[in-house]
Amino acid sequence: MRRKRLVVTLAAIALALGSLAFWMLPSGSSEAGLGAMHNCAPAGKWSIAVWDGPSGTSPADALSTCGAGAVDAAYSLDPQTQAWMRWFADRPELNNLPPLSDVQGIIVLGGALASPTQTSSPGPPPQADVIFYHGTVLTMDTQHPQAQAVAVRGDRIVAVGSDDEVLNMSGPGTALVDLEGRTLLPGFIDSHAHWIGDRESAGHSTSEEAIQAALENGWTSVSELFVNQDRLDELLSLDQQAHLRLRVNAYLPLNWGEEKFGDWYQAYEPGQEFSSRLRIGGVKIFLDTNWGQTLFFSQAELNELVAEAHEAGFQIAVHSVGEASQDLLLNAYENALQGESNETHRHRIEHVVVLRDDQLDRMQRLGIIASFQFFVPADCPEVMEDVFGPELLPRVARWRDLLEAGVPSMGGTDSPWGCEAADPSKKNSPMEEIHKAVTRIGESGVPPAEWQLDQRVTVEQALRLITIDAAYGTFEENMKGSIEVGKLADLVILSADPLATPVEQLTDIEVVMTMVGGHVEHCGQGYQSLCPAT
Ligand SMILES: [Zn+2]
Repeated sequence: MRRKRLVVTLAAIALALGSLAFWMLPSGSSEAGLGAMHNCAPAGKWSIAVWDGPSGTSPADALSTCGAGAVDAAYSLDPQTQAWMRWFADRPELNNLPPLSDVQGIIVLGGALASPTQTSSPGPPPQADVIFYHGTVLTMDTQHPQAQAVAVRGDRIVAVGSDDEVLNMSGPGTALVDLEGRTLLPGFIDSHAHWIGDRESAGHSTSEEAIQAALENGWTSVSELFVNQDRLDELLSLDQQAHLRLRVNAYLPLNWGEEKFGDWYQAYEPGQEFSSRLRIGGVKIFLDTNWGQTLFFSQAELNELVAEAHEAGFQIAVHSVGEASQDLLLNAYENALQGESNETHRHRIEHVVVLRDDQLDRMQRLGIIASFQFFVPADCPEVMEDVFGPELLPRVARWRDLLEAGVPSMGGTDSPWGCEAADPSKKNSPMEEIHKAVTRIGESGVPPAEWQLDQRVTVEQALRLITIDAAYGTFEENMKGSIEVGKLADLVILSADPLATPVEQLTDIEVVMTMVGGHVEHCGQGYQSLCPAT
C-alpha cells in the first residue's frame, strides 16, 4: 500500500514536470544493498529509479543497485544528470511507461525526494577514475559516432565528448591518459567462438592462456558455442578464482552430431547471470555437418527441439551451413515463433553459409539473426568452389546481402577452427578478420574470385558486426558494444584508426590496451603510459 502511494506520488511529480520523462530499461532481476530506499523488482516486473542528485548519484548507481537489468525506468530531478538522461533519451523505443499497477519496485537515490519546484544546486561533477583524451573515439553510437575523450568511473563509462567536456570530470585521483591521436573503440565481441572450450586445438594448454590470447587481440566478450556441463563447471571455477578476465556468454549444446543430450540445459535459467563475467547465452543445436551435406534431424525432430527450448525461454543458436538446412531451420523457427517477433527471442543461424533469395527474405521477415565468420569465404574459397560448384556460389557467404536486407547480423571467429580443422596458427585478431571481411583475401593472399567481390563489406560494417551488432545478439546492446554513458567500460585502444587506414595496412594496426569493466586486462609492450593502473 505504502509502495503504491509512493508510485502515485512519483507519477504526479513526473506529470507536473512535463519536460522530464521516464526512461525504461530492460527488465531482469538481482539485488544489492544501497542507502536511501530501494525495492528491486522481481524478474519480468517493473522497477523505477528516482534520483535527485545531491550526493552525486546517477542512473549507473541505480543500475548497480538492482543489477543491470532490474531497473526499468529511471527518473531524474537533478540537472547534473543531463548526460545520463541523454543516454536514455536516445532510445525513443524506451520512452513508454508501464501501467502503475505493474510497478513492483522503487529506488530512491541521493536523499529525500525534491519537490518539483526545488532544484538541487549543481555541485562539481563526480570525479572520474580514468579519462582518455586527445583521441579518435569511434563510439559505434550512431547518434554520436565520434568523440575525443571518454571518462570511466568504476566499471562504467561516465562521459563521452570533446576533450574540454570530459576533462571537466578530472580530479586529484583521476588517471589522465593522453591517447596522442590513437583510436579508442568499444571492446570487441566475438559472437561465435570456442576460445576456452577448444583451447588445446589452438595450442593453449590452459584456459588462462586462451583468455590472455583473446584479451591481447582486443576481445572483451566472447560467446562460447559449446559449453557442456564440464565446461560450464570450469567457467564457473575460473570465475570464482577471478581468472575469467573477459565476459563469456555460454551456449549449452543439445546435441553433438547424432548424440543427443536431452533437456539438461533446463537446469539453468535463460540468460542466467552467474556474475558480470559469465552468463547463459542460450542453447546450441548442430543441425548439419560436412558443409551442410549431412543433416542430423528431420523436420519433425527439429521442430520439437526448437519449440521446447523456445518455450522454455532460451535463445537458440543453430549450426546451419547448407541450403536444405536453412529451410528446415526457418520452418522450425517460424513454427516456434507462431507469428511473434524474434526481437524478444533473438534466435540465430550460425555460419549461414548458403542462402537462397527466398531464405534471405524469410530471415529478414522473421528477424532471425545471421551469425557468420569473416574468415570462411576468404580462407576457404577452393573448398567452397569444390563443395558447392559454380551454380551455388552466388548463394554463398552473402554477408553484404544480409546487411543490405537489414537482417540482424553479427561476426565471430569460430576460434580455433579454420576451414577444415582447428588451426593453431589462426590468430583470430579483429583486424585480420576485418581485413578478410572487406577484401575477401584470406591467409593464402590469393585475390578473391569474381563470385566474392559483391559480398565484401565496409570496414565500418565489419566493426559494427563485432561490437554493437554482436551485443544485440546476446541481448546486451544496452550494456556494451558502443561507447555511451552508462555502458560498461569495456574498451580497446588501437594504434591507428581502422576507418582512416588503407585497407592493405589494416593488419598492421596493434591492440595497445584492452580494458574490461574499468580494469586494464592487457597492455601492449611499450605502451605503459596508455594503460592506467586501475
Ligand atoms: Zn563453432
